[in-house]
Amino acid sequence: MRLLSVVLPSYNEEMMIEKAAQTVGGVLTDAGIPYELIFVDDGSKDATWENIFRASADDEHVRGIHFSRNFGKEAAIMAGLAAASGDCAVVIDCDLQHPPEKIVEMYRLWEQGYEVVEGQKADRGTESAAHSFAAKTFYSLISKATGFDMENASDFKLLDRKAVDVLINMRERNAFFRGLSSWIGFETATVTFDVQEREAGESKWSTRSLIRYAINNLTSFSSAPMQVVTVLGIIMFVVSVVFGLITLIQKIAGIAQPGFTTVILILTFSSSIIMISLGIIGFYISRIYEEIKGRPKYIISKTCGGDCVRSPGE
Ligand code: UDP
Ligand code: MG
Repeated sequence: MRLLSVVLPSYNEEMMIEKAAQTVGGVLTDAGIPYELIFVDDGSKDATWENIFRASADDEHVRGIHFSRNFGKEAAIMAGLAAASGDCAVVIDCDLQHPPEKIVEMYRLWEQGYEVVEGQKADRGTESAAHSFAAKTFYSLISKATGFDMENASDFKLLDRKAVDVLINMRERNAFFRGLSSWIGFETATVTFDVQEREAGESKWSTRSLIRYAINNLTSFSSAPMQVVTVLGIIMFVVSVVFGLITLIQKIAGIAQPGFTTVILILTFSSSIIMISLGIIGFYISRIYEEIKGRPKYIISKTCGGDCVRSPGE
């Protein structure tokens, strides 16, 4: 039997650690799958790390990684994958909103030869109307930009060793796990699941962090917004040629008008477009700057359990 690594990103989840370890561990033991659980504490401010440490002392399957501060879920996933020693790895939320029984189904598909098994949401759970509208818009934008359908995608996936190795060797700092796992290709199967209610604690995503997440992921996957700038420029050029011709004809005909309104309109319109365009370009430049600094995606301050993984976070 081949080892399965389960990566559980956790941020301020003190109430869920023990429960997640028991539930996931129980499911995998019952199914006779050899496993390890890797909890990645994403710089939590509560007792999450103490609980992970305790769980790793009680249960040899449990290992823990502690970040020096909060680096975000994407970083936590990458750190967990980098530390995984299994022949395949599953990423699952530690709030148990992803049903652990599905891991078994994913593992069986992997045994049949699939290299990536995607968890797909059957429904989006109990989200507010505004939230699901925003999510829909974001996913349709990113699907158009990347050519991958990610409408119901989630971070709940199983990856073969080969896929894990590809992902952890990507040098991108602003990686978008959900998108990258389709981008890398491989033999892919999907498993649908119902999003469960959160049992304890609360969602870690504020509206602001979601907006930032959406913009980051869109720009890391597509340069379409930059092309919008070019399109706007072309439209402006056509408009100005038309206006120019009209004024010239009026001048020649000797009926040149004061035309103050037109001047103001053109001035405000073109300067706003220029500013928007500069903003979009500036955004990409800042992303390039971030990538080029080559800082690590995360910084590990402590580890526990197993052989105690040491990864530079590169
Ligand atoms: N999470 C994380 N770092 C963060 C935010 C969230 O590791 O900065 C983890 C969190 O502990 C949980 C998972 O990511 O296991 C999903 O987060 P959450 O449940 O808050 O998101 P939602 O389910 O509401 O989309
Ligand atoms: Mg959740």
